[in-house]
Amino acid sequence: MRSRRRLSKNRRRLLTCGSGATARRVGVRYGIIGDIHGNLEALTAVLDMLKQEGAVRHVCLGDIVGYGADPVSCISRVRELDAICVAGNHDYAAIGQTPVDYFNPHARHAVMWTREQLGQKERDFLTEMPLMRKLDGFTLVHASPEAPAEWNYLYHALEAARSFQVLDTHVCFIGHSHIPVTFVSNGSCGTRPPEDFTVSHSKRYLVNTGSVGQPRDGDPRASCCIFDTASGLVQVKRVGYDINAAQAKIIAAGLPPVLALRLARGE
Ligand code: ZN
Repeated sequence: MRSRRRLSKNRRRLLTCGSGATARRVGVRYGIIGDIHGNLEALTAVLDMLKQEGAVRHVCLGDIVGYGADPVSCISRVRELDAICVAGNHDYAAIGQTPVDYFNPHARHAVMWTREQLGQKERDFLTEMPLMRKLDGFTLVHASPEAPAEWNYLYHALEAARSFQVLDTHVCFIGHSHIPVTFVSNGSCGTRPPEDFTVSHSKRYLVNTGSVGQPRDGDPRASCCIFDTASGLVQVKRVGYDINAAQAKIIAAGLPPVLALRLARGE
């Protein structure tokens, strides 16, 4: 019984995480989330929406923790999902795996607070997350594919052009800036607004899915994507959630009030 269960788990991994040949043929509807930042209310709302939209597999682009008041619960939800994860700078900072010197004082305060909340189980989970991975024909990285450990931000097409030089998949999903945008390379590199599109095989794409738990594009709703590997459709989703509840927890935890205020402004 035990070995049968292991076999079926391995088989599931092969179907969804391996070279991807089988998964692409069948098609998988991925829910792609990132920059959750300990915001359980936003994560819950996003996962409810993804379920309704028929996402069957989940990908997490890192920064599960940092800023928000529910780092442990957010890690638990991501683990329950069996999500395919890469690490963000806040995840690694919370386990001492990347320096905190360059964080602003509020972010550093939140990192140190988060560190105290984590148990061994959570630390082990964050430690095991790689910086970058490929599955089913696409790449996942928190910051930028050309130097994932340097935590560079991709705000402009010029910066994205460097990433396209090293990218060997048609599509790469990223986070980090908390601003949803898609960079498109077709010889030259440009941007397109965060709207639904279908992947063309003559172009390559760097898709920033925006932030679940701390959006910074002026829209306070949680942001994420759905990628359907059968149709090639990338959908950009925004989801309202109980911001007041997330703010109250940040204040009650003694975290900097500015981290609560910014949630309502989406900045
Ligand atoms: Zn982040």
